[in-house]
Amino acid sequence: MTTFETLRLDGVTRRFAGADALAGLDLEIRRGEFIALLGPSGCGKSTALNCLAGLLPLSDGSIWRDGTRLDTLPPERRGFGMVFQNYALFPHMSVRKNVSFGLKMRGVARAEIRRRTDEAIRLVHLEEHAAKLPGQLSGGQQQRVAIARAVVVEPSLVLMDEPLSNLDAKLRLEMRTEIRRLHQNLGLTTVYVTHDQEEALSMADRLVVLRAGRVQQIGTPEEVHNRPANRHVADFLGFRNLLPGIAGGGSVKINNWQVSGTPVGAVAEGDPVVAAIRPEDVVLGGGSGIEVTVEVVEYHGREIAAEARTVDGLPLHLRTSERLAPGDKVAVAFPPERLLVFPA
Ligand code: ATP
Repeated sequence: MTTFETLRLDGVTRRFAGADALAGLDLEIRRGEFIALLGPSGCGKSTALNCLAGLLPLSDGSIWRDGTRLDTLPPERRGFGMVFQNYALFPHMSVRKNVSFGLKMRGVARAEIRRRTDEAIRLVHLEEHAAKLPGQLSGGQQQRVAIARAVVVEPSLVLMDEPLSNLDAKLRLEMRTEIRRLHQNLGLTTVYVTHDQEEALSMADRLVVLRAGRVQQIGTPEEVHNRPANRHVADFLGFRNLLPGIAGGGSVKINNWQVSGTPVGAVAEGDPVVAAIRPEDVVLGGGSGIEVTVEVVEYHGREIAAEARTVDGLPLHLRTSERLAPGDKVAVAFPPERLLVFPA
């Protein structure tokens, strides 16, 4: 298979009926990288993946494998493997036949097909199910067949479109680790589409966060998690509290509370801002003077998630190991270093 050092997307754009589903995506994928395309439903993730795969022609822009133009090639000549949400297995073929299919199509020698098929089946732990039909397997096992089928041809890039979203929560966690392990062991370059921020953060080397067809941020999990580029990324990455405020010199005023020591970045003094903080970063207790009333409590094992409200009616999400109950009045504080300030 044609391998590469970098795969470059240059202003990749796809329009449907005049509307941009994907607008000007610039991205460089390095060999061996695990890239997650992350964003809410309809943001253009699948469009980006299908443009890469060659299943959708570009409306504008280009794709390059090292120095060679790729977007003019049909899908089968790009040498990529694909794994879909709905598995897309051949129902009348055994696991073994499904996995070996791509090798047969490529005219690989019989003994070689046998060896590589065995190896792929072993990689996804399906040795005992090799003779079964897809209909005789669980969803998780079927997804493993789809993964084995994609990797058996040693593709230069594996494209995965929400491969775990049809699985139950426990299996999803297991398969996350398994895909990540497979990626490490085989050094597979992977582009993985998901709307699940935890999945993207835990699996990927770099994340591409999309919204309404446009890139919002490209960065490592740590960068995106700790320094979201704007309020939309923050919102999508778990900053559930987006509080209206006013910027002051080195501080932000939310309602009547002055939070000092918050870096306000490029925002000018007196400008309206959105102050973002994660529920787990809101501190309970202390003499901040911000009092809230707990309204709803959800049990999450060691912690509870609570929705509270300030006296002025501002909703606030909390996450704490303290045992709160509806009606409780508690004081909360915002550690300045945990508060991110964005232009409103
Ligand atoms: P999801 O997670 O729901 O699959 P997504 O982020 O993958 O969403 P896309 O499927 O890429 O989003 O769709 C991006 C936009 O393009 C959406 O507004 C969608 O309605 C539109 N779109 C996608 N495919 C087509 C199509 N074949 N014809 C018309 N519009 C389309």
